[in-house]
Amino acid sequence: MSLEITSMRDSDDMLKSSPSLLDEAGLSNQWARVRARLQAEVGEVEYRTWLKQVALAGVNGEEVTVILPTRFLRDWVNKEYGELITSLWQEENRAIKRVDIRTQPSRGTAPNLAEPAPVSAKLAPTPARADVVAPLDQRYTFETFVVGKPNEFAYACARRVAEAPATAGFNPLFLYGGVGLGKTHLMHAIAWELSTGTRNGACVSVAYMSAEKFMYRFINALRSQSTLEFKNELRSVDVLMIDDLQFLIGKDNTQEEFFHTFNALVDAGKQIVISADKSPSDLSGLEDRLRTRLGCGMVADLHATTFELRISILEAKAQRAGVEVPAKVLEFLARKITSNVRELEGALNRLVAHANLFDRQLTLETAHEVLHDVLKAFDRKVSIQEIQKRVAEHYNIRVTEMSSARRARNIARPRQVAMFLAKQLTSKSLPDIGRHFGDRDHTTVMHAVSRVTELIGQDAAFGEDVDLLRRMLES
Ligand code: ADP
Ligand code: MG
Repeated sequence: MSLEITSMRDSDDMLKSSPSLLDEAGLSNQWARVRARLQAEVGEVEYRTWLKQVALAGVNGEEVTVILPTRFLRDWVNKEYGELITSLWQEENRAIKRVDIRTQPSRGTAPNLAEPAPVSAKLAPTPARADVVAPLDQRYTFETFVVGKPNEFAYACARRVAEAPATAGFNPLFLYGGVGLGKTHLMHAIAWELSTGTRNGACVSVAYMSAEKFMYRFINALRSQSTLEFKNELRSVDVLMIDDLQFLIGKDNTQEEFFHTFNALVDAGKQIVISADKSPSDLSGLEDRLRTRLGCGMVADLHATTFELRISILEAKAQRAGVEVPAKVLEFLARKITSNVRELEGALNRLVAHANLFDRQLTLETAHEVLHDVLKAFDRKVSIQEIQKRVAEHYNIRVTEMSSARRARNIARPRQVAMFLAKQLTSKSLPDIGRHFGDRDHTTVMHAVSRVTELIGQDAAFGEDVDLLRRMLES
């Protein structure tokens, strides 16, 4: 990418001379769709932090130019999101081959932009200092954590670290497991325990934050040239806890910084607690030397809940809420909602709120009624394999063609339909779906989704077909 800053003239010329230039409204619409998909793809937080200020400068033949207000943002966006932005543009407009990410011209009046709004060179606000510690949730203590077979080992390790931080063999403590199984709860519990007590007469300072927050703080320190302060602040704590470390995958600079902080703290005899969705060895995409160090202390797995644990958790929560819930209703919930504790809690809360609001007895019927939509969402869980099988049957092709390299229309179209349904009916990510279809790239899945959406709009018979398949899979 070129380092030079485009002058006013250049961008004017660029807009005028573009042969494939759509009218401004068309271009602006395309850009709006690219932005919306970008936002959906990376999530609200990342989008707001990094991508909100990306503005369209123009299209010249095969090349789109977008601009950012600072070099720093430009380099960051280019490195972290360049490929994604390019593939989204390609999806939107086949003629586009490249996306050039530049800084905003520094002189002159604002260029003639298709979408002028976000161009003003505002830096993202630097957050107030002294937020090194994220607030802890009062409900997440050891007392409220219900222990059962799937989590007893992780619980014991967490207790141990809270009692005696930086004991050999327990540093770092690495907690891992799927979504909503209690990782954050246990980390907060450790932090509460440590920060309310004193060790050898001195207060223990604990820093807890998500990996995302860590990155955000680090980047802001870089931006405001206060990295030294940031480092000192972090390295002055007794216990550092980083939640959801998987967020640092692919964020090489932040990983590097974290690695150094990690080493400095461990060398100084401080405790580190980490959580992630996978074990250190399975966190591919993290630097090897970091993975090795993460696995050096105690690694504890939070397993999926069992029926018994779900019942115990529900009983404990109902009791804390001071409501009597019939055993039948608890059993019903524990059988139906198996994915994670957060969902289970949500369902119970809803039931209790409903019973209070309408002053009704909680019965199995009320549960069915109130949780109708939630339960439907859970019933709807269908696997990619099932989708492939049904779609293959429907179009009379072999299921192995779903992963084959063949691109003949009679094969490729059903494959696209299956990808589209996989995106709609499962919570799998685009790369994940791609892997199930013969290791295809996530952009291929993205393309399939938009192609099928387009066809549904154009061809009523095709639309009915897809709808039929969906209903079959849902039932
Ligand atoms: P994770 O960080 O693993 O995604 P959380 O710690 O945020 O999951 O847990 C999700 C919700 O479920 C929280 O409200 C938490 O209090 C609750 N929870 C999870 N496990 C338990 C448990 N064993 N006992 C009580 N509550 C739990
Ligand atoms: Mg969590």
